[in-house]
Amino acid sequence: MPTVWRVAIVAVLVGWLAIRVLAQSTGSAPALPSLQALRWEESVLNILTSGKVTVNTFTLREPLRVVIDLSPCTLPTEAIQPEGDAPTVVERVRWGQFKEDVVRVVLDLRDNTQYALSTLPEGNLAMLALGAGNPSPLVQQAGATPASSNPAKTNPVQPPAELLAVEWQTTEEDARLRMQLTRRVPVRLRPLKEGYSLILEMPQVKPGADLPSNWDPKHPLVDAVEFAGDATGTRSTIRIRTTRAASLSVEYDKDQPVITLAVNRPRNAHGKLSEKHIVIDPGHGGTSKGAVGRDGNSVVYEKDIALAIALLVRDLLLKEKATVTMTREDDSTVDLYDRPKLANEKGADFFISIHCDSTPKPNSASGTTTYFHASDPDGRALAQAIQKHVAAVTGLPNRGAQTDTAIYQSGFAVLRRSEMPAVLIEVAYINNDKDRAKLKDPKFQRKVAEAIVAGLRAYVEGEKEARLVQDEVQIRPASSEGEDERIQTPEQL
Ligand SMILES: [Zn+2]
Repeated sequence: MPTVWRVAIVAVLVGWLAIRVLAQSTGSAPALPSLQALRWEESVLNILTSGKVTVNTFTLREPLRVVIDLSPCTLPTEAIQPEGDAPTVVERVRWGQFKEDVVRVVLDLRDNTQYALSTLPEGNLAMLALGAGNPSPLVQQAGATPASSNPAKTNPVQPPAELLAVEWQTTEEDARLRMQLTRRVPVRLRPLKEGYSLILEMPQVKPGADLPSNWDPKHPLVDAVEFAGDATGTRSTIRIRTTRAASLSVEYDKDQPVITLAVNRPRNAHGKLSEKHIVIDPGHGGTSKGAVGRDGNSVVYEKDIALAIALLVRDLLLKEKATVTMTREDDSTVDLYDRPKLANEKGADFFISIHCDSTPKPNSASGTTTYFHASDPDGRALAQAIQKHVAAVTGLPNRGAQTDTAIYQSGFAVLRRSEMPAVLIEVAYINNDKDRAKLKDPKFQRKVAEAIVAGLRAYVEGEKEARLVQDEVQIRPASSEGEDERIQTPEQL
């Protein structure tokens, strides 16, 4: 090697060393930003750091999880606790110092879900919206788009849209909230667990200066409306509670950034339960045993529990003088597609499928869920009515009314193919000891059957208290259920 090269290499090394020594001696290595807070606001996880960090997200499978890497970043000296309630799709949140300068936050998920990441230009706040999707199509109701693990990153530099004006337009039949925005942004409508409450999430919207303080349309379908604006534009929400099972949908105007939230009486929700034709579908049957529960040497099959409850529902509905069609009345094998086909051929008003839930690992989940297809507003209304009544009697966790696309991209075939409002009830977990003891109990089966009928009646005729008051004096009750479920602002959550 020529001397001139050796000199050059030594010079570079010395220079590098000098820089290193200088940096250490003056302590000029700046303190890395640290993780400050993890805060849930509905389905959005806010990740706050003390300075600018770069955020990288990706998903891993088995178990399904979203990984969020923050760099450069360190853990704070004081331990942090996540704030707020994680959405049901999240099993747990973990975080740790993954590398010297990388903090990793991991969300363990129960179901596949989309997510969208937004960051502020300052780089100290990242918002991970679960269930949010690609900005196109612009209007997204829960489950409107296929579940996917692909991250859909929103543009971090685009300023939030502003909500300029709102106006209710009401007729006797429906109430429509028209909202004028400065630009189109994705929004999402999602049922809340309790009663007839939904939330419209607007993750990139900040309130304008001229919004009303009172959003009440004074319409018999609408019980309460609460707007929670976020001046930073990270997330504004509208919570709406209806007096009965109602069909809610959102839609953008074709050529202007005006979004309409429409509240309607859902399909087949007129008249009396006795005038309705209901198809009851006991899940599985024959060679399809469904999920399995084990008590020592004895085995319980989902198909048998589903049939037992379904026959009770049939008897109760017949007593009500309603018309009932069963997809099976014994342990016969019925093709999946023949079930909704039968309901469609009969021109039934409702399709109700009864199942038991299960998890890969016994005793890892408990509770009641009612599924509706994709973002169908009528199916969602029926699911809310039935979930409300069934969850009230099971004595098990209320897992809410949920879209079936949270489970399969295309949803459940029996719901997708049904042309009438359709739901699938997962009464309880057959491979959870506590749930299974209940599922096997004839008294519990009867309570559930009665609750399913009560939910159906509430969908068709309205809630009992509301019916009484309307019959007598035409005054809307303060609360549809007499339950003091106040709508909370994010600060209270
Ligand atoms: Zn099943």
